[in-house]
Amino acid sequence: MPIALDHPYHQELLVATLAVKRASNLTKKLSDSIVNTQNSGTQTKDDKSPVTIGDYASQAIINHAIKKSFPLDEIVGEEDSESLQGDSEEAKRLSSKILDIINEEQSNNPLEILGNLEDLPSVFEAIDLGNSKGGSKGRFWALDPIDGTKGFLRGDQFAVCLALIEDGKVVLGVIGCPNLAENIESNEDQTGIKGGLFSAIKGVGSFYTPLFDTEDFIPLKDQEKITMKQHSSPDSLKVVEGVEKGHSSHSTQSQIKEKLGFSAETVVKQTINLDSQVKYCVLAKGQADIYLRLPISDSYREKIWDHAAGNVLVYESGGLVGDIYGNELNFGNGRLLESKGVIAGNKAVFKSVITSVKEVLKL
Ligand code: AMP
Ligand code: MG
Repeated sequence: MPIALDHPYHQELLVATLAVKRASNLTKKLSDSIVNTQNSGTQTKDDKSPVTIGDYASQAIINHAIKKSFPLDEIVGEEDSESLQGDSEEAKRLSSKILDIINEEQSNNPLEILGNLEDLPSVFEAIDLGNSKGGSKGRFWALDPIDGTKGFLRGDQFAVCLALIEDGKVVLGVIGCPNLAENIESNEDQTGIKGGLFSAIKGVGSFYTPLFDTEDFIPLKDQEKITMKQHSSPDSLKVVEGVEKGHSSHSTQSQIKEKLGFSAETVVKQTINLDSQVKYCVLAKGQADIYLRLPISDSYREKIWDHAAGNVLVYESGGLVGDIYGNELNFGNGRLLESKGVIAGNKAVFKSVITSVKEVLKL
């Protein structure tokens, strides 16, 4: 039976996809150049300028495209242009590089629908469209122009993440994953072509297509519909977690896996560490079953752009997402989530994962 692909978001999906693809092309080039220059010794590990340039350029491209097609929509974006607009030599150097790489992408593949950023004032203006406060009424977009900064700087995983939120609920998500391999078995075993594009529409489903095969938009009917597997036995479960110990508590995550019955001999092979919302993509594709993000501090509040696109992707592929109590995340609470931690899982295990989380955290 053909999949019912009727939905009112055709134009939003088209614009979001083409904008994310343009930003993914740009950030992929920067990511490759970091790896090359670090290997050749011409760039030090602490030089963060490639990620800074990529962040701003990606946000400028995507915000500009949204504004062109949907002038009334607000955007919650991670970056603002204040530090770029300073008089320092560094600000001037970064700004001119940002304009150069945007121009390069625009002239490689001019697309009327995305518009054209011609000069630095328009770039700054586009970046600052990301200043919405969000909230529980009406619609707005949430953008993380480069999610997984730390992964980007290591030449590992990062993602360009864009979501549309209506009345506090995510209705559309598009994630470009420039460095994600097609097949992910474990931390060591990752093969196949690199670059995945993931899209989800509420009530329609989640979809995957290679990111760099074509510059064109591929209609959902020609993309692969993806679903999570509904494994429940501890020996067939895989868990995705962040790489950075400062973002989530790896020790608490280990205790939870132990409670769930993972064997000490195989748990390492069943745990896949990935930066950014790539984790949600790997879940949605059925390559893993559980995402653990246990808070390391009481005071940290998650940012909505770090989870919005991934949230709808997991729901629409047959999974559930909650905080440490198992409550749904609320994207209508402003720029931050009010809740702590993020737990996602297939429907067969989600409840027992939350039970284990509560036991370990003594909630
Ligand atoms: P990940 O790559 O999954 O570790 O997550 C990357 C995101 O974690 C970044 O975009 C940051 O916004 C976010 N982050 C930064 N500090 C923390 C923290 N203390 N706890 C949770 N997330 C954080
Ligand atoms: Mg982020």
